[in-house]
Formats: sequence, structure tokens, C-alpha cells
Amino acid sequence: MDPFVRLLLISILIQAASSHKIIRILPSYDKISNGEGQRFDDGLFCDSWRLSVETNNAGYWATIPSRCLGFVDAYMNGDRYASDSEVVAADEIDFARRLDLAGNGKDAWIFDVDETLVSNLPYYIGAGFGSEIFNETSFDEWVDLAKAPALPASLKLYKELQGLGFSLILLTGRAEFQRNVTEKNLLFAGYTNWERLLLRDASDIGKPARIYKSEKRAQLKRDGFQIHGNSGDQWSDLLGPPMATRSFKLPNPMYFIK
Ligand SMILES: [Mg+2]
Repeated sequence: MDPFVRLLLISILIQAASSHKIIRILPSYDKISNGEGQRFDDGLFCDSWRLSVETNNAGYWATIPSRCLGFVDAYMNGDRYASDSEVVAADEIDFARRLDLAGNGKDAWIFDVDETLVSNLPYYIGAGFGSEIFNETSFDEWVDLAKAPALPASLKLYKELQGLGFSLILLTGRAEFQRNVTEKNLLFAGYTNWERLLLRDASDIGKPARIYKSEKRAQLKRDGFQIHGNSGDQWSDLLGPPMATRSFKLPNPMYFIK
């Protein structure tokens, strides 16, 4: 082969390979230190990491930092998770009570399901609190049990919003084939009388949650709902047009969904 043609072919192949390569720059957490070059202790570092996660500064992450496993365990199983959840719920009910509702059945509040209405902590205790890569097969087996307990702050909020006259829309990344077990689990946890339960149908499979959920909110608006509030443990539950009048981010330091 002509040396020039060979060079051209090699160049094209390299370009094709690099365009498909996923380049991800991991945060240089190991280099974080105080002014004297000393590494912060794990508790302090992990608290700062959690703030970065909850504010969406961290962006995409696949697993929690290995040094934070004990921190996340203590956070989720101690009083802090419950307290953080209660504070968010108090902010939500405060906002909800100040609203003037149309009273036509179209005053909507959206809830995500996992880590928003129900807690999968019993599963994540056995899965390293997010320190292991997500295993869809074993998680779906857990979902099939329909035994995820309610998050107490969310159950109380849900009932208060119902009392105020909101139509509650449940919008989950779970798939249609999980509808029956999801309804069973919601009832097991104490949730009743939702207006709609929206799950991914065949055309939604593979879409990023942020796109899928935005599209569902757009459909709700076309159906005449006014989306006053939206509660979710992921930014992808909340961001993207159209957004609710107020969006409320619930804590979740165990996993990130795009
Ligand atoms: Mg969730």
C-alpha cells in the first residue's frame, strides 16, 4: 500500500476511535488539603463531599468515595437523614399553604418514588451504601418484594398536601412492567389516592431521567395541570422545562441518576 494512503487510513482510524472514547476527568479529591498540606479527616471531607452532591456541584458520579462509606452509613442510619428530610418537608408545606389554589382538580404536586416517597435503604445496606456500582438485576429483585418503607417526612407531607386539595402525581423512573409491584409497595407504605402514577413506557426506555421527566411534565401541562410543587431526591427529577413553581431536592448521598 502506498505509504501516504496507509498514513491517511491510520489517521482516520485514530480519529474514529477517539470520537467514541468517553473522557471523564475525575475530581482530584485526593489533593484536597488544608493550608498546611494536611489531608482533612474523613468525616470533614465527606460532609463537604455531601454538600457538593446535594447542590449538584459534583455533577455525575458513579459511586460514593470509598473513604465515605462509614460516613454515608452513619448519615442514613442516624438522625441526620431523618432531620434533613423533615426540614425539606417543612419548607414544602410552608410553601404549599401559602398558595392560592384554583380548586379545579388541576392543582398538581409531583412526587418521585424511590428515595422520595419510599426508602430503599434496606437494599442499599446490603449494597455498600452506593460504594458498589449499581446492579439493576438485584435492585429489581428488591423492587419485586414491594417492601420499601415510607420515608416518614414524605408520608406526612403527602397526606397534608392531599388535605389541602392538591392532585398528587407520582412520576418515577421505574418501568411499566413494575407498575403492579410499585402500586403494591406504595399501598404497603401507606400512600393512597394518587391522581396518576407515571412510569417509563417502551418509548421512554433509555432516555435520561431529566429528559423523560421533563416530557412527562410537559404532558401534564398540556392536560391542564398547574404544577405547583415537585419533590425528588435527584436533580434529574426537578430540572428541565417545564419546571414546577417550586422544586424541592430531598437528600440522597447514595447514588446519582442522570
Ligand atoms: Mg428517586
